[in-house]
Amino acid sequence: MTVPPSHPRFKSLETRDRLAAMVQAGVTSPQGLIAHGRGEAFDYLLGEATQPFAEEAMRAGCAALLLARKPVLSVNGNIAALAAGPMARLAKELGAAIEVNLFHRTEERVARIASLLRDAGAERVVGEQPDARIPGIDHDRAKSSVQGVYGADAVLVPLEDGDRAQALVAMGKLVVTIDLNPLSRTARAAQVTVVDELTRAVPRMAEHARALKAEGREAQLATMRGYDNARVLGASLESMAARLQRLAKEGVR
Ligand code: ATP
Ligand code: MG
Repeated sequence: MTVPPSHPRFKSLETRDRLAAMVQAGVTSPQGLIAHGRGEAFDYLLGEATQPFAEEAMRAGCAALLLARKPVLSVNGNIAALAAGPMARLAKELGAAIEVNLFHRTEERVARIASLLRDAGAERVVGEQPDARIPGIDHDRAKSSVQGVYGADAVLVPLEDGDRAQALVAMGKLVVTIDLNPLSRTARAAQVTVVDELTRAVPRMAEHARALKAEGREAQLATMRGYDNARVLGASLESMAARLQRLAKEGVR
């Protein structure tokens, strides 16, 4: 890494270096780099900070996952590269299993990501021996596990493809996502959409989970009842639009 910490885009450049290294290591797919770039563009519009509508969605998502009988967190190559440890801690906090679930699936990459997650402290990791298929999705992309996403009643699928998110909703699962693009099909299909950057959101969700466990089941139910994803998605678009208008008025230098 040759970029000095004083560089104004240090964190972004460091993250890109990490993702590029993880492609070399066979953890992240080359296509994952492109998906990351699309996310970064939307983070500019958010002001690269966690906004109140994202906090509200994180709390609702944690409530849903805590109330679930079988909550499962899905991890792909980008998530493994950027947030393996925080995902392992979130799974522990939520009492959830983790499924390695890849859009561009190879068995080697699944195995590498599973061991990376175990090294990061994850206890229940499935996906290496898929034994079920998500209906309506083509061959390799449909592979899933009964102990994982397939058998779950609530799932966290950050950075997910729109088709698969829609298929999970069609199966009757409660779908929570983290996605910087409020216009993506995943953001629109999910019941709870956290419009925020993955590495900011996952540790923060672990804090929400801990707080909600202390508050108890009634508070979790009330949190879910009071939640409206259409309103939250609308608030994310309003926030981006207002920020752009403010910048346009002030003059961008
Ligand atoms: P969709 O299939 O849902 O319409 P898409 O095809 O644009 O969306 P995918 O590549 O299928 O995108 O999914 C990746 C999603 O993850 C994108 O919406 C992208 O903005 C988002 N994303 C990428 N990196 C991050 C990140 N670090 N944090 C949060 N979101 C991210
Ligand atoms: Mg897609």
